[in-house]
Amino acid sequence: MTTTTPIKKIVIAGGGTAGWMAAAALVKLLGKTLSVTLIESDEIGTVGVGEATIPSLVFFHQLLGINEQAFMSATQGTFKLGIQFENWRKLDHRYIHAFGVTGKDCWAAGFQHFWLKGLEKGFSADFGDYCLERRAAEAHRFAHLPKNGLNYAFHMDATQYAQFLKQLSLPLGVERIEGKIQRVNTDNESGFIRSLSLNDDRTIEGDFFIDCTGFRGLLIEQALHTGYEDWSHWLPCDSAVAVQTESVAPPLPFTRSIAHDAGWQWRIPLQHRVGNGLVFCSKYLGDEQAKALLARNIEGKVLTEPRVIKFKTGRRLKQWNKNCVALGLASGFLEPLESTSIHLIQQGIVRLLRMFPHHGVRQVDIDEYNKQTDFDVEHIRDFIILHYHATERDDSPFWNYCRQMKVPDSLAHRIQLFKETGRVFRDGNELFDDSWQQVMIGQGVMPEQYHPIVNTMPDGELKAFLEHIRSSIDKTVERLPSHQEYLNQYCPGN
Ligand code: FAD
Repeated sequence: MTTTTPIKKIVIAGGGTAGWMAAAALVKLLGKTLSVTLIESDEIGTVGVGEATIPSLVFFHQLLGINEQAFMSATQGTFKLGIQFENWRKLDHRYIHAFGVTGKDCWAAGFQHFWLKGLEKGFSADFGDYCLERRAAEAHRFAHLPKNGLNYAFHMDATQYAQFLKQLSLPLGVERIEGKIQRVNTDNESGFIRSLSLNDDRTIEGDFFIDCTGFRGLLIEQALHTGYEDWSHWLPCDSAVAVQTESVAPPLPFTRSIAHDAGWQWRIPLQHRVGNGLVFCSKYLGDEQAKALLARNIEGKVLTEPRVIKFKTGRRLKQWNKNCVALGLASGFLEPLESTSIHLIQQGIVRLLRMFPHHGVRQVDIDEYNKQTDFDVEHIRDFIILHYHATERDDSPFWNYCRQMKVPDSLAHRIQLFKETGRVFRDGNELFDDSWQQVMIGQGVMPEQYHPIVNTMPDGELKAFLEHIRSSIDKTVERLPSHQEYLNQYCPGN
């Protein structure tokens, strides 16, 4: 379906993280040519979680000209260098998936091949010891280093983030409407959305709509009946209970992900409090049991009532349908394990800006947008499934299911390739790169062999090579201030 009506008026339905990220980007980058209206309902509110991010958010903020110190102060933000996975491979085991690169690759073989031979010879340390971000995280240290020396992301207060983006967007011309959308009005012939009727008889017309209404997908699903692909056979967690607590210690520069019998628990340290949540599979754990389990595993005074959130992992069959693009939870949900949802919102926004239908909606743009989004989401899906599947845990029905389940062919191939040859390749410009090696090794997938090019390096040279990487990382980490010290000077007055 192609139309030639110029797109001048954008209506964003929903004012959570997705809605305000979209509004801020559209008004900042295309505001001279478009008008942007955002409708949000105070009565419905937002999901209120989503506080851990990945490094791509730094780029999004640069694109929007956001001052990082102002953002960190407004959102009580802390720096994040990775995620510590505890009890995932087996009980009492932990590793950090850090945002940086591990060791040094050569043209023929990744660093893991050199490390594997070193392991065989007895002179390799833990794989993560060759990654600057992992060592800095463990030492609870942080600083901005020149030349992108330390790859980082943020923990932030989700509610404050939406407020921060709102304050940025309103003066630039975003029209905010408070109200509850009651009806989505579509054109009889084309099926395109024409307007949204609110519960107070106002009708908001638009040329193009962005559905940021959260899980309900008011436009993309309830009006356009786009369809949903259910991935819960691969990602069986379908519930979460979240609670905020007072901080009892300086904030760690990493997220903690602690596996339990039927899922996992997050701990996200902010400057003023800690976000906690238990992600679980309702087939194996009830809501009340989950609340009790979380209550037993938090520290500090509880600040909020525990809130249960239900979800179905999967994706909307099309992220762009007719004159509507879905962002955030309205577009689908993988699960929060690798903090990828906000990244996917950002990817969706940037993609839409790149192929914005100024001169009318074209099917060819829709197809390209959906193809690129499918690529991103499927690769992230595989990466998340890897954590559940590559486990030695056999102590509960949940872990037995995950360990034994049939995974997507694309993932099965990657695991087999790594196991048999030690090789792993980045597929196109998929999000995760070095992360695959880190998580496979962290979860106990060990290659049976290494690349023979490693044998061209005499043992003494290999030993010196490994030691040099490790000692130069350690020297850098020693010079860093503590995360808390750095926050104190970066966000004074918080
Ligand atoms: P919401 O926050 O639900 O916002 C929906 C908006 O639509 C609200 O403003 C609401 O008022 C409005 N609305 C709905 N219906 C109507 C109506 N009828 N009329 C008017 N307005 C309406 N992501 C990460 O990147 N990192 C994480 O660590 C992370 N953790 C998560 C943990 C859990 C348990 C869950 C469930 C999600 C997590 N996410 C995480 C995802 C993240 O929370 C979301 O991607 C993000 O908050 C965006 O949500 P949203 O804006 O799409 O939806």
